[in-house]
Amino acid sequence: MQKVLQSLVQLQSIDVRVGEVRARLARFPRRIAELDQRIAAAKADVDTSKAAQFTSIKERKKYELDVEQWKERVRKYKDQGSQIKTNEAYRALQHEIELAEQEIAEAEDRLLEKMVAGEEYDRRIRASEKSLTEIEAATRVERTKIESDKAAAERELGELNADRERAVAQIPENVLDNYTRIAKKHDGIALTEIRDERCSSCGMMIRPHVIQELRRATGEELFHCETCTRIFYNLEQSASAAASISASSNSEIQ
Ligand SMILES: [Zn+2]
Repeated sequence: MQKVLQSLVQLQSIDVRVGEVRARLARFPRRIAELDQRIAAAKADVDTSKAAQFTSIKERKKYELDVEQWKERVRKYKDQGSQIKTNEAYRALQHEIELAEQEIAEAEDRLLEKMVAGEEYDRRIRASEKSLTEIEAATRVERTKIESDKAAAERELGELNADRERAVAQIPENVLDNYTRIAKKHDGIALTEIRDERCSSCGMMIRPHVIQELRRATGEELFHCETCTRIFYNLEQSASAAASISASSNSEIQ
């Protein structure tokens, strides 16, 4: 097999993996942001519960004051009672007292409702705080996992870049430029396999003499698909190149 073509097949295989690792790395910020969002939402829930309790306490104090004010008014009416001269005025005063006592009863009812609801507010605060603690613990575990995944991906990318440099060093500059240009046009894939005498990428039939040339071990020329412009390689060549890639990456791990 042509040495340059072998290097190109290797480069393509590395670039595909680089693409995968980069895509993985690109997802990390969103995964971290999702954790932050979950914590922020749980914190907001605690704040909301506390704000609701605060409002409820303010209202309770207002109703307490209402009760006090109405009671004070009743006391004043009763004091006035001793100075009243006519029955009519007395009845009017009695009526005022009844109304005020009704107000007291209503304010006391509202107050009682608030006091009962107060327990519910306490319960909600406790529940939201518990949930926040749980979410913080869970996200801490997830964050550690994400960070170790990210470090592994970065390490892998570093290794792939080193592999890439080695592969690139074997390729003449004009061929590399050609590869880069075609890859850019086709989503990073500049090579195409010959399968059943066709371009496996676009399905175009390949001329017999091109196939013959490709099969000749000594052929120096690179052949492009006439339709999609990708560079041809043979399946056997890819198999041997893939084997050599995995052999080299295995030796690096050890
Ligand atoms: Zn093609």
